[in-house]
Amino acid sequence: MIVRPAVTADSTPVLHVYERVVHSMRTSPYNAHWDMEFHPTANDLSAAIEAGDLFIAVDDSEDASGAILGAFVLDTSQDPQYGQIPWLIAEPANRIACIHLLAVDPDARGRRIGAALVNAAIRTARARRMRSIRLDVIAHNQPAVDLYASRGFTDHGVFTLDYGGGLMLPAHLMELDLDDPAPNADRALLAPASLASCELCPRRCRADRTADATGVCGAGSTLRLARAALHLWEEPPISGEEGSGTIFFSGCPLKCIYCQNHEISTGNFGIDVPEQRLAEIMLELQDQGALNINLVTATHFAHLLPGALKAARARGLHIPIVYNTSGYERTEAVRELDGIVDVWLTDFKYADASLGRELSHVPDYPEQAARALARMAAQVAARGGIVYNEDGIMQQGIIVRHLVLPGHADDSCRVLDLIWNAAGDVPISVMNQYTPNERMRSDGGALARAVTDEEYEMVLAHADDLGFSTVFWQEGGAVSESFTPAFDTTGVLRAADGPILPRA
Ligand code: SF4
Repeated sequence: MIVRPAVTADSTPVLHVYERVVHSMRTSPYNAHWDMEFHPTANDLSAAIEAGDLFIAVDDSEDASGAILGAFVLDTSQDPQYGQIPWLIAEPANRIACIHLLAVDPDARGRRIGAALVNAAIRTARARRMRSIRLDVIAHNQPAVDLYASRGFTDHGVFTLDYGGGLMLPAHLMELDLDDPAPNADRALLAPASLASCELCPRRCRADRTADATGVCGAGSTLRLARAALHLWEEPPISGEEGSGTIFFSGCPLKCIYCQNHEISTGNFGIDVPEQRLAEIMLELQDQGALNINLVTATHFAHLLPGALKAARARGLHIPIVYNTSGYERTEAVRELDGIVDVWLTDFKYADASLGRELSHVPDYPEQAARALARMAAQVAARGGIVYNEDGIMQQGIIVRHLVLPGHADDSCRVLDLIWNAAGDVPISVMNQYTPNERMRSDGGALARAVTDEEYEMVLAHADDLGFSTVFWQEGGAVSESFTPAFDTTGVLRAADGPILPRA
């Protein structure tokens, strides 16, 4: 679906949505007592559209003809009665957003549209540099209370509010601290203390990264980065025209012998930087026009993400966080990253565990990747599914990537089977950009060459047979260096930090 500001042409269909909602509420136990003669009126909705404060979720599927699935208003107009509430965040009223009139078309119920709308309201409030969100929910509407609580809102309890026309109702007053993503989450695995016996990735090698030890991934106690710059070669909903703000983390839990980023993944090339630099880099990339922050293989530094994101949010970061991973993730880490990651951009490399052993030196790739993928897909579904903005840029969701390897098209087809079984009809990206590195060229064998057109087409045809409705694929010659950026530490240090001394 697309969530976007409503425009004048949407006035009538939006009005009809609210009319249907009000009508269906009359027989619902969750009746909010809206009345189109009183609130919300057609004039209320038109004024909100004119102010740019009314947002709609639009069904972008081929057979839906742009149907409006739901709507909400986000503004800064607080009811004077809010003055009696012990709010946590005390800021001037122009820095506090309020959600009003969040509604889902009765025909679209059961699709978690409400969750998608709440998430969109949170993103919009951040983009408007708001500090918090406040709202009230009629006390008997427990599903709505639960929805806001699941997105991190604090419930201040039940107060009696005067809704006008003699209507006095008990309501929950709720608040979200926009700087603190998922503040209530239990994050035992991502707690910095867990580094004393690191089990961040499925290798669970228990290196004491608080001392001098480094794990199999190459990571120790210090954050090491190889590059931070705009990147134009991700899938269109990620890179768009302006580019994705990629941050390449040094080291990797996998040891893929053909890796196109081998200098940083296995060679651990990069520069050690203080942890607070991560938040600064995110903000610098946003200032450069990045459409999102794209964390490339942050698995072994995932413990730094909650703190970095909180610091960056507090300083105005509002673009989505893309977690670009090998797919070799623990389900516990995926769970703990809920509320931090907006878009899962995850590989699924092998269906045959022996290939994982031979080519990436891990014993259990398919099992771990399938479990992690199922968790990612379930998380996206719980958040209301895949959401794009009006420019087609993914704001929340998932894309599963698969790099076809020469000589292994059969395994690629089995990978697609596993993706379908674990996550269903998610967007997939089937890539033919495999480029033999120097070692592969000198070793000879199938991995010394490019993927043939026949191999690639066989995998794409299998994706069609399975029924994937969104398949990104690559045109042109298979072997190209253009997708691999130069790992020259661009963007890692500020000029003021002095000369760049890369450490290999
Ligand atoms: S992230 Fe690195 S140190 Fe931690 S378990 Fe994985 S390989 Fe070991």
